[in-house]
Amino acid sequence: MFGLKTDWSLEMPPAYFTLESYEGGAARWCPGCGDFAVLTAVQKICRDEQLPPEKVVAVSGIGCSSRFPHYMKTYGFHGLHGRALPVACGVKSRRPDLKIWVATGDGDCCSIGAGHWVHAIRYNMDMTVMLFDNAVYGLTKNQTSPTTPPGRKTNTHPRGAWLPALNPLTATLGFSNVSFVAQTVDWNPVHLHATLAAAYRHPGTSFVRILQRCPTYSDDMFAEVQKDSNRLLLLEHERGVPAASGLQRMYAKRMEHDPLDMAQARALAEQQDTLPIGVLFADPSRPRYDEYTAQGLEMTAEDRLNALESELDRFAV
Ligand code: SF4
Repeated sequence: MFGLKTDWSLEMPPAYFTLESYEGGAARWCPGCGDFAVLTAVQKICRDEQLPPEKVVAVSGIGCSSRFPHYMKTYGFHGLHGRALPVACGVKSRRPDLKIWVATGDGDCCSIGAGHWVHAIRYNMDMTVMLFDNAVYGLTKNQTSPTTPPGRKTNTHPRGAWLPALNPLTATLGFSNVSFVAQTVDWNPVHLHATLAAAYRHPGTSFVRILQRCPTYSDDMFAEVQKDSNRLLLLEHERGVPAASGLQRMYAKRMEHDPLDMAQARALAEQQDTLPIGVLFADPSRPRYDEYTAQGLEMTAEDRLNALESELDRFAV
């Protein structure tokens, strides 16, 4: 019995992290906002994986979804507009042991942050990037974003958006060294969780486009797709989102798709009538820049000095 042994130690029993371990401040998104579901899914994955909260970092830019780090009881960085990805890459390059979740919106990532988007995908550092795509700038109150469909009325285009919408899936699949692209929806918590879990497990930059409802400014944006499950095509594969009986019952349209098949991934990403959900592309063999930047992090000051001197000696004349 405790107190009678003489060989007791002060070691604490291993901690078990619950959902509460990751719950930060009360989320202040509008009622019904799809962001709540994403937050819950991420907290569940952290719990399932038993990630120590001090080993998790949530990084964001600017926008409604970028309030994400405030609602996680982990480390976080609420950055500048469009700058979530370079901040995340910087964190990963110095602290490869940390698990990074990036929250970025269609305005944040695909407009002002587009340059960083291209290169972060190419760097392929190990992190999960969640694109909250509600096809509108919500924080600045209903402005046209790069993914706003043509014809849709916004405050900046009161007679309807003019240009064809940018497709984040085809764009990302076209970037050099892309290693993971998936799509899911905020209103199906099972699929959302399964897709983000697959993204988390992927070694490299996992890019997940989440069709996200914004009941305040784009209430009807995904209403049809939400009502008619035949508008969605469930992609299944053991290397992607594995077939789960619950999901199979929900979707009549299903397809076995090997995520290594880039040609088919690109064809699926082009589809507009039936939107694919699941993992479109995943190649864990792509080179990762965080493996390069991690070199030398364990060196002592003396090791570093010796290495520097030996480099300088190469130029001795
Ligand atoms: Fe969510 Fe839209 Fe409200 Fe922003 S404006 S918090 S995206 S519902």
